[in-house]
Amino acid sequence: MNWLTNFVRPKIRALYTRKEVPDNLWHKCANCEAMIFHRDLEENLHVCQHCGFHMRLDADKRLKMLFDDDDYHVIELPKVPVDPLRFRDQKRYTDRLKEAQAKSGKNDAIQVAHGRMGGIPTVIAAFDFGFMGGSMGIAVGEGLLAAARLAVLQEAPLVVVPSSGGARMQEGILSLMQMPRSTIAVQMVKEAGLPYIVVLTDPTTGGVTASFAMLGDLHIAEKGAQIGFAGARVIEDTIRETLPEGFQRSEYLMEHGMVDMVVHRKDLRATLVRVLDLLGRPGPSAEIVPLPKPEAEAPAMTAKAAPTEAEPLEAVELEPASPAPAQPQSGETVEPAPNGAAAAVTPGDRPER
Ligand SMILES: [Zn+2]
Repeated sequence: MNWLTNFVRPKIRALYTRKEVPDNLWHKCANCEAMIFHRDLEENLHVCQHCGFHMRLDADKRLKMLFDDDDYHVIELPKVPVDPLRFRDQKRYTDRLKEAQAKSGKNDAIQVAHGRMGGIPTVIAAFDFGFMGGSMGIAVGEGLLAAARLAVLQEAPLVVVPSSGGARMQEGILSLMQMPRSTIAVQMVKEAGLPYIVVLTDPTTGGVTASFAMLGDLHIAEKGAQIGFAGARVIEDTIRETLPEGFQRSEYLMEHGMVDMVVHRKDLRATLVRVLDLLGRPGPSAEIVPLPKPEAEAPAMTAKAAPTEAEPLEAVELEPASPAPAQPQSGETVEPAPNGAAAAVTPGDRPER
Protein backbone atom coordinates (compact mmCIF):
# COMPACT_ATOMS: atom_id res chain seq x y z
CA MET A 1 0.00 0.00 0.00
CA ASN A 2 2.71 2.36 0.95
CA TRP A 3 4.60 1.64 -2.18
CA LEU A 4 1.47 2.18 -4.24
CA THR A 5 0.47 5.47 -2.64
CA ASN A 6 3.93 6.90 -2.25
CA PHE A 7 5.51 5.91 -5.50
CA VAL A 8 3.09 4.70 -8.15
CA ARG A 9 0.29 7.17 -7.68
CA PRO A 10 2.45 10.29 -7.90
CA LYS A 11 4.14 8.86 -10.97
CA ILE A 12 0.81 8.30 -12.69
CA ARG A 13 -0.39 11.73 -11.65
CA ALA A 14 2.72 13.31 -13.04
CA LEU A 15 2.04 11.62 -16.35
CA TYR A 16 -1.52 12.83 -16.65
CA THR A 17 -1.64 16.18 -14.92
CA ARG A 18 -0.91 19.08 -17.19
CA LYS A 19 2.43 20.71 -16.63
CA GLU A 20 2.21 24.27 -15.47
CA VAL A 21 3.00 26.70 -18.24
CA PRO A 22 5.57 29.26 -17.15
CA ASP A 23 4.13 32.71 -17.55
CA ASN A 24 7.25 34.14 -19.16
CA LEU A 25 6.98 32.19 -22.41
CA TRP A 26 5.22 35.01 -24.20
CA HIS A 27 6.23 38.64 -24.18
CA LYS A 28 4.14 41.57 -25.20
CA CYS A 29 5.76 44.24 -27.34
CA ALA A 30 5.42 47.57 -25.56
CA ASN A 31 5.07 49.36 -28.88
CA CYS A 32 2.73 47.31 -31.11
CA GLU A 33 1.36 45.01 -28.38
CA ALA A 34 2.05 41.89 -30.44
CA MET A 35 2.70 38.69 -28.49
CA ILE A 36 6.17 37.31 -29.12
CA PHE A 37 7.37 33.85 -28.18
CA HIS A 38 10.39 33.99 -25.87
CA ARG A 39 12.62 32.00 -28.25
CA ASP A 40 11.84 34.33 -31.15
CA LEU A 41 12.55 37.24 -28.88
CA GLU A 42 15.95 35.87 -27.92
CA GLU A 43 16.80 35.04 -31.51
CA ASN A 44 15.95 38.60 -32.53
CA LEU A 45 18.07 40.07 -29.71
CA HIS A 46 14.95 41.37 -27.99
CA VAL A 47 13.82 43.39 -30.98
CA CYS A 48 10.14 43.02 -31.94
CA GLN A 49 9.95 41.19 -35.27
CA HIS A 50 6.68 42.94 -36.08
CA CYS A 51 7.52 46.60 -35.55
CA GLY A 52 11.29 46.66 -34.91
CA PHE A 53 10.90 48.05 -31.40
CA HIS A 54 14.13 47.66 -29.41
CA MET A 55 13.39 46.36 -25.92
CA ARG A 56 15.76 47.07 -23.08
CA LEU A 57 18.54 44.60 -22.45
CA ASP A 58 20.10 43.89 -19.09
CA ALA A 59 23.86 44.06 -18.69
CA ASP A 60 24.35 40.29 -18.91
CA LYS A 61 22.53 40.00 -22.22
CA ARG A 62 24.33 43.05 -23.52
CA LEU A 63 27.79 41.68 -22.73
CA LYS A 64 26.87 38.28 -24.15
CA MET A 65 25.64 39.92 -27.34
CA LEU A 66 28.73 42.05 -27.87
CA PHE A 67 31.68 39.82 -26.97
CA ASP A 68 32.96 36.97 -29.14
CA ASP A 69 31.41 33.55 -28.36
CA ASP A 70 30.44 34.38 -24.77
CA ASP A 71 34.12 34.49 -23.95
CA TYR A 72 34.55 37.33 -21.49
CA HIS A 73 35.25 37.97 -17.84
CA VAL A 74 33.22 40.22 -15.62
CA ILE A 75 35.52 41.97 -13.18
CA GLU A 76 34.77 42.52 -9.54
CA LEU A 77 34.17 46.16 -8.76
CA PRO A 78 35.52 47.91 -5.69
CA LYS A 79 33.32 48.04 -2.61
CA VAL A 80 31.80 51.42 -1.89
CA PRO A 81 30.18 52.98 1.18
CA VAL A 82 26.50 52.03 1.30
CA ASP A 83 23.95 54.74 1.95
CA PRO A 84 26.34 57.44 3.18
CA LEU A 85 23.49 59.95 3.58
CA ARG A 86 21.13 57.54 5.40
CA PHE A 87 18.53 58.51 2.88
CA ARG A 88 14.91 57.65 3.23
CA ASP A 89 11.85 58.42 1.08
CA GLN A 90 8.91 55.99 1.20
CA LYS A 91 11.49 53.33 1.89
CA ARG A 92 15.00 53.29 3.26
CA TYR A 93 17.62 53.50 0.54
CA THR A 94 19.38 50.45 2.00
CA ASP A 95 16.13 48.47 1.64
CA ARG A 96 15.66 49.62 -1.93
CA LEU A 97 19.23 48.65 -2.70
CA LYS A 98 18.84 45.21 -1.11
CA GLU A 99 15.64 44.65 -3.07
CA ALA A 100 17.30 45.52 -6.36
CA GLN A 101 20.29 43.34 -5.49
CA ALA A 102 18.06 40.38 -4.66
CA LYS A 103 16.04 40.82 -7.85
CA SER A 104 19.00 41.16 -10.21
CA GLY A 105 21.66 39.18 -8.36
CA LYS A 106 24.02 42.06 -9.03
CA ASN A 107 25.71 44.54 -6.73
CA ASP A 108 24.79 47.66 -8.65
CA ALA A 109 23.65 49.03 -12.00
CA ILE A 110 26.92 48.55 -13.90
CA GLN A 111 28.89 45.54 -15.09
CA VAL A 112 32.43 45.76 -16.39
CA ALA A 113 33.92 42.98 -18.47
CA HIS A 114 36.88 42.37 -20.71
CA GLY A 115 37.13 40.01 -23.61
CA ARG A 116 37.43 40.15 -27.37
CA MET A 117 35.28 41.70 -30.05
CA GLY A 118 36.11 40.43 -33.50
CA GLY A 119 39.40 39.28 -31.98
CA ILE A 120 40.20 42.75 -30.64
CA PRO A 121 40.74 42.91 -26.85
CA THR A 122 38.05 45.24 -25.56
CA VAL A 123 36.69 46.47 -22.24
CA ILE A 124 32.94 46.99 -22.01
CA ALA A 125 30.98 48.69 -19.24
CA ALA A 126 27.27 47.96 -19.55
CA PHE A 127 24.39 49.44 -17.55
CA ASP A 128 21.38 47.62 -16.22
CA PHE A 129 18.24 49.75 -16.37
CA GLY A 130 16.42 47.16 -14.28
CA PHE A 131 18.63 48.03 -11.31
CA MET A 132 17.06 51.20 -9.88
CA GLY A 133 16.68 52.72 -13.33
CA GLY A 134 20.37 52.27 -14.11
CA SER A 135 21.00 55.28 -11.90
CA MET A 136 24.53 56.49 -11.34
CA GLY A 137 25.66 56.45 -7.74
CA ILE A 138 29.11 55.99 -6.22
CA ALA A 139 29.21 52.32 -7.26
CA VAL A 140 28.58 53.15 -10.91
CA GLY A 141 31.18 55.93 -10.87
CA GLU A 142 33.63 53.49 -9.34
CA GLY A 143 32.72 50.95 -12.03
CA LEU A 144 33.42 53.43 -14.80
CA LEU A 145 36.78 54.30 -13.26
CA ALA A 146 37.63 50.62 -12.95
CA ALA A 147 36.67 50.08 -16.60
CA ALA A 148 38.87 52.99 -17.70
CA ARG A 149 41.82 51.75 -15.63
CA LEU A 150 41.42 48.27 -17.07
CA ALA A 151 41.30 49.62 -20.63
CA VAL A 152 44.48 51.61 -20.05
CA LEU A 153 46.21 48.65 -18.43
CA GLN A 154 45.28 46.31 -21.27
CA GLU A 155 45.76 48.99 -23.92
CA ALA A 156 42.28 48.11 -25.10
CA PRO A 157 39.48 50.33 -26.37
CA LEU A 158 36.66 51.13 -23.95
CA VAL A 159 33.03 50.70 -24.97
CA VAL A 160 30.39 52.01 -22.59
CA VAL A 161 26.73 51.08 -23.01
CA PRO A 162 24.65 53.41 -20.81
CA SER A 163 21.00 52.75 -20.07
CA SER A 164 20.18 55.06 -17.26
CA GLY A 165 17.74 57.57 -15.90
CA GLY A 166 20.63 59.72 -14.61
CA ALA A 167 22.12 60.36 -11.20
CA ARG A 168 20.89 58.34 -8.20
CA MET A 169 18.96 60.81 -6.13
CA GLN A 170 19.25 58.69 -2.97
CA GLU A 171 22.95 59.52 -2.93
CA GLY A 172 22.39 63.26 -3.34
CA ILE A 173 25.44 65.31 -4.16
CA LEU A 174 27.64 62.21 -4.02
CA SER A 175 25.88 60.92 -7.11
CA LEU A 176 26.39 64.26 -8.86
CA MET A 177 30.11 63.96 -8.09
CA GLN A 178 30.17 60.89 -10.31
CA MET A 179 29.75 63.18 -13.31
CA PRO A 180 33.25 64.71 -13.02
CA ARG A 181 34.64 61.36 -11.87
CA SER A 182 33.37 59.55 -14.94
CA THR A 183 34.62 62.42 -17.10
CA ILE A 184 38.09 61.91 -15.61
CA ALA A 185 37.77 58.18 -16.34
CA VAL A 186 37.09 58.98 -19.98
CA GLN A 187 40.01 61.39 -20.03
CA MET A 188 42.34 58.64 -18.80
CA VAL A 189 41.39 56.47 -21.76
CA LYS A 190 41.79 59.32 -24.22
CA GLU A 191 45.17 60.34 -22.83
CA ALA A 192 46.37 56.79 -23.36
CA GLY A 193 45.42 57.20 -27.03
CA LEU A 194 42.74 54.52 -26.86
CA PRO A 195 39.33 54.67 -28.52
CA TYR A 196 36.37 55.44 -26.28
CA ILE A 197 33.03 54.54 -27.83
CA VAL A 198 29.58 55.11 -26.41
CA VAL A 199 26.64 52.95 -27.44
CA LEU A 200 23.60 54.98 -26.49
CA THR A 201 20.64 52.77 -25.63
CA ASP A 202 17.14 53.43 -24.41
CA PRO A 203 17.07 55.46 -22.21
CA THR A 204 20.16 57.61 -21.72
CA THR A 205 19.13 60.66 -19.76
CA GLY A 206 20.01 63.07 -16.97
CA GLY A 207 23.46 63.19 -15.41
CA VAL A 208 24.67 60.29 -17.52
CA THR A 209 24.00 62.22 -20.72
CA ALA A 210 25.57 65.24 -19.09
CA SER A 211 28.85 63.43 -18.47
CA PHE A 212 30.62 60.39 -19.93
CA ALA A 213 27.83 59.39 -22.34
CA MET A 214 28.38 62.43 -24.55
CA LEU A 215 32.19 62.36 -24.54
CA GLY A 216 32.74 59.42 -26.88
CA ASP A 217 35.07 59.51 -29.83
CA LEU A 218 32.07 58.01 -31.54
CA HIS A 219 28.42 57.93 -30.52
CA ILE A 220 26.49 54.96 -31.78
CA ALA A 221 22.81 54.92 -30.87
CA GLU A 222 20.38 52.04 -31.02
CA LYS A 223 17.26 52.64 -33.08
CA GLY A 224 14.53 54.59 -31.38
CA ALA A 225 16.42 55.12 -28.12
CA GLN A 226 15.46 58.04 -25.93
CA ILE A 227 18.50 60.21 -25.37
CA GLY A 228 18.36 63.56 -23.64
CA PHE A 229 19.06 65.53 -20.51
CA ALA A 230 15.73 66.75 -19.16
CA GLY A 231 12.51 64.92 -19.89
CA ALA A 232 10.40 66.08 -22.82
CA ARG A 233 7.48 67.06 -20.58
CA VAL A 234 9.70 69.21 -18.36
CA ILE A 235 11.05 71.00 -21.41
CA GLU A 236 7.57 71.55 -22.82
CA ASP A 237 6.38 73.00 -19.53
CA THR A 238 9.41 75.27 -19.32
CA ILE A 239 9.50 76.68 -22.83
CA ARG A 240 5.72 76.41 -23.33
CA GLU A 241 5.98 75.02 -26.80
CA THR A 242 5.13 71.66 -28.25
CA LEU A 243 8.24 69.72 -29.14
CA PRO A 244 8.79 68.32 -32.62
CA GLU A 245 7.99 64.73 -33.52
CA GLY A 246 10.67 62.23 -32.56
CA PHE A 247 12.33 64.72 -30.20
CA GLN A 248 15.13 63.14 -28.08
CA ARG A 249 15.11 59.98 -30.18
CA SER A 250 18.24 58.53 -31.82
CA GLU A 251 17.20 59.43 -35.36
CA TYR A 252 16.34 63.03 -34.42
CA LEU A 253 19.67 63.40 -32.61
CA MET A 254 21.60 62.09 -35.58
CA GLU A 255 19.91 64.62 -37.86
CA HIS A 256 20.99 67.32 -35.41
CA GLY A 257 24.57 66.17 -35.03
CA MET A 258 24.53 64.75 -31.50
CA VAL A 259 24.93 61.16 -32.59
CA ASP A 260 27.18 59.73 -35.29
CA MET A 261 25.32 56.57 -36.21
CA VAL A 262 21.95 54.99 -35.59
CA VAL A 263 22.24 51.23 -35.76
CA HIS A 264 19.79 48.34 -35.61
CA ARG A 265 20.65 45.99 -32.77
CA LYS A 266 21.35 43.12 -35.13
CA ASP A 267 24.09 45.20 -36.80
CA LEU A 268 25.49 46.67 -33.60
CA ARG A 269 28.20 44.11 -32.93
CA ALA A 270 29.43 44.09 -36.53
CA THR A 271 29.47 47.91 -36.59
CA LEU A 272 31.46 48.07 -33.36
CA VAL A 273 33.95 45.49 -34.57
CA ARG A 274 34.43 47.42 -37.80
CA VAL A 275 34.94 50.69 -35.95
CA LEU A 276 37.35 49.17 -33.42
CA ASP A 277 39.28 47.54 -36.22
CA LEU A 278 39.59 50.83 -38.10
CA LEU A 279 40.57 52.84 -35.02
CA GLY A 280 43.01 50.25 -33.72
CA ARG A 281 44.86 49.81 -36.96
CA PRO A 282 48.20 51.65 -36.91
CA GLY A 283 48.55 51.61 -40.70
CA PRO A 284 46.97 50.22 -43.84
CA SER A 285 46.21 46.50 -43.68
CA ALA A 286 47.90 45.65 -46.98
CA GLU A 287 51.54 46.07 -47.93
CA ILE A 288 52.44 49.46 -49.35
CA VAL A 289 53.37 49.13 -53.03
CA PRO A 290 55.14 52.05 -54.81
CA LEU A 291 53.29 53.63 -57.70
CA PRO A 292 54.51 52.63 -61.18
CA LYS A 293 56.83 55.20 -62.80
CA PRO A 294 54.82 57.61 -64.94
CA GLU A 295 56.93 57.15 -68.11
CA ALA A 296 54.20 56.57 -70.65
CA GLU A 297 52.01 59.27 -69.26
CA ALA A 298 54.57 62.06 -69.12
CA PRO A 299 54.45 63.24 -72.77
CA ALA A 300 50.71 63.06 -72.87
CA MET A 301 50.52 65.17 -69.74
CA THR A 302 52.79 67.87 -71.09
CA ALA A 303 51.08 67.85 -74.44
CA LYS A 304 47.77 68.39 -72.69
CA ALA A 305 49.20 71.02 -70.40
CA ALA A 306 51.00 72.82 -73.19
CA PRO A 307 48.01 74.20 -75.06
CA THR A 308 46.67 76.00 -72.03
CA GLU A 309 50.05 77.48 -71.28
CA ALA A 310 50.92 78.59 -74.79
CA GLU A 311 48.19 79.11 -77.34
CA PRO A 312 44.81 77.48 -77.08
CA LEU A 313 44.81 76.92 -80.83
CA GLU A 314 45.18 73.94 -83.12
CA ALA A 315 48.68 75.13 -83.80
CA VAL A 316 50.02 73.18 -80.86
CA GLU A 317 48.70 69.92 -82.16
CA LEU A 318 51.01 70.11 -85.09
CA GLU A 319 54.07 69.73 -82.90
CA PRO A 320 53.25 66.99 -80.39
CA ALA A 321 56.80 65.97 -79.46
CA SER A 322 58.63 69.27 -79.57
CA PRO A 323 57.19 71.21 -76.58
CA ALA A 324 58.11 68.54 -74.07
CA PRO A 325 61.86 68.58 -74.53
CA ALA A 326 61.87 72.30 -75.40
CA GLN A 327 60.68 73.56 -72.02
CA PRO A 328 63.09 71.88 -69.61
CA GLN A 329 66.23 72.54 -71.65
CA SER A 330 65.92 76.27 -72.27
CA GLY A 331 69.45 76.35 -73.71
CA GLU A 332 70.84 76.52 -77.24
CA THR A 333 68.81 73.57 -78.46
CA VAL A 334 65.55 75.27 -77.57
CA GLU A 335 65.83 78.03 -80.08
CA PRO A 336 65.81 76.20 -83.42
CA ALA A 337 62.92 73.82 -82.79
CA PRO A 338 60.24 76.13 -81.29
CA ASN A 339 61.29 79.03 -83.50
CA GLY A 340 61.01 76.92 -86.58
CA ALA A 341 57.78 75.41 -85.48
CA ALA A 342 56.26 78.71 -84.49
CA ALA A 343 57.40 80.37 -87.69
CA ALA A 344 56.02 77.55 -89.75
CA VAL A 345 52.66 77.34 -88.00
CA THR A 346 51.58 80.81 -87.02
CA PRO A 347 51.84 82.45 -90.40
CA GLY A 348 49.94 79.59 -91.99
CA ASP A 349 47.32 79.78 -89.32
CA ARG A 350 46.62 83.46 -89.44
CA PRO A 351 45.58 83.79 -93.05
CA GLU A 352 42.99 81.10 -92.59
CA ARG A 353 41.13 83.11 -89.99
ZN1 LIG B 1 6.28 45.43 -31.76
